[in-house]
Amino acid sequence: MAGSKIGIDLGGTNFRVAIVGDNNEIVTHRKEHVGEPRDPATIVERCARVVEDLAGGRGGTVGVGIAAMLRGREGDISVSPHLRWRDVPFGKMLAKRLGPSFSVGVYNDVNAIVYGEGVAGAARGSRDVLGVFVGTGIGGGLIVNGQLVEGASNTAGEIGHCKVRWDDDAAPCACGNRGCVEAYCGGSYVQARVQKELAAGAKSKALELAGGVIENVNPGHVDQAAADGDDYALALWSELAPLLAATLGNAIAVLNPDKLVLGGGFLGRAPTLYQLVETTLEIVGNRPSQEAVTVVPAALGDDAGLVGSASLAAGGVSLVPR
Ligand SMILES: [Zn+2]
Repeated sequence: MAGSKIGIDLGGTNFRVAIVGDNNEIVTHRKEHVGEPRDPATIVERCARVVEDLAGGRGGTVGVGIAAMLRGREGDISVSPHLRWRDVPFGKMLAKRLGPSFSVGVYNDVNAIVYGEGVAGAARGSRDVLGVFVGTGIGGGLIVNGQLVEGASNTAGEIGHCKVRWDDDAAPCACGNRGCVEAYCGGSYVQARVQKELAAGAKSKALELAGGVIENVNPGHVDQAAADGDDYALALWSELAPLLAATLGNAIAVLNPDKLVLGGGFLGRAPTLYQLVETTLEIVGNRPSQEAVTVVPAALGDDAGLVGSASLAAGGVSLVPR
């Protein structure tokens, strides 16, 4: 092997650095709290030190998955709300700090996760993959013909901002637009809606499951309540599942993937909603494309981004030029 294959998962709370093996397994890794200060120079230096330490004097390829909007293909960050960064040439800073024995690639975190699931996880061996992750918001990524698709402005796969409503009452989305599927089915939106409706007098077992404290009710409680036959939870899930299923079905009709990987901190832990989305998708989907796709739950958890970014960089995808 020419050098170490290294993945970095840089989030707003923690960053992880891993050496990834020839079979895309994590050989060793280290996790650090981002904390403060979190200015780019400090974070670059901290990441570089862990990389050098784990690489043990060898060079290699370094792929970074970051929760950010990227500009161009050279690791320039347009905005990262989690890190509170704007217009940061992160890839160039890290490449300069690490020096010529390392090559650096920078990727959107969800793209890295989907690629990781593609090379070593739930969609291993698949050529055409759509990955959709429903957490606080909704993110997605695409692999077409075995290649990650980033799009003309790095927003390919942003399925969360597909429109499901467009009237004056359409729900506002964090992207600044209205009526996005994320504004209905994203975990933070679901949580806010449920808490608001409970405060207004709605009755649900979700409240009991949350210890009777409205502020503690989360989408997981709603999912459990739905599993227990709670009317409120079942009605809500019956409203939301078709919105998500129709969005997925539309994407499948366009992309014709052989695997649809579903995961995320909300949907991955909401088996009742997951099942309802899957059965609704079978009804609403376009038959020829629907018959070709297998729906699979994400398999690698927090390791997916590390494996994906390391593999993308090792494959020479979007490396930062010196
Ligand atoms: Zn949106």
